[in-house]
Amino acid sequence: METQKCVLYDRDCIGCLECEICDLDENKICDNCGKCLDIRDYATLRIDKIVRSPQDK
Ligand code: SF4
Ligand code: SF4
Repeated sequence: METQKCVLYDRDCIGCLECEICDLDENKICDNCGKCLDIRDYATLRIDKIVRSPQDK
């Protein structure tokens, strides 16, 4: 099984879900509400990784 790298720290993912915590409210799990994003006419999003299924190759 392939090991996932942590998106916050230099380690393998341990499933702690710290990366799912809201940037504005530490008691909330992110529901993608967008309040932390300054979206105007356009926005730029950084994509960490694209995972493709083996059938797409
Ligand atoms: S769940 Fe925890 S260990 Fe895994 S990527 Fe998120 S912060 Fe890192
Ligand atoms: S999208 Fe919403 S819930 Fe997610 S981190 Fe931003 S403000 Fe918090």
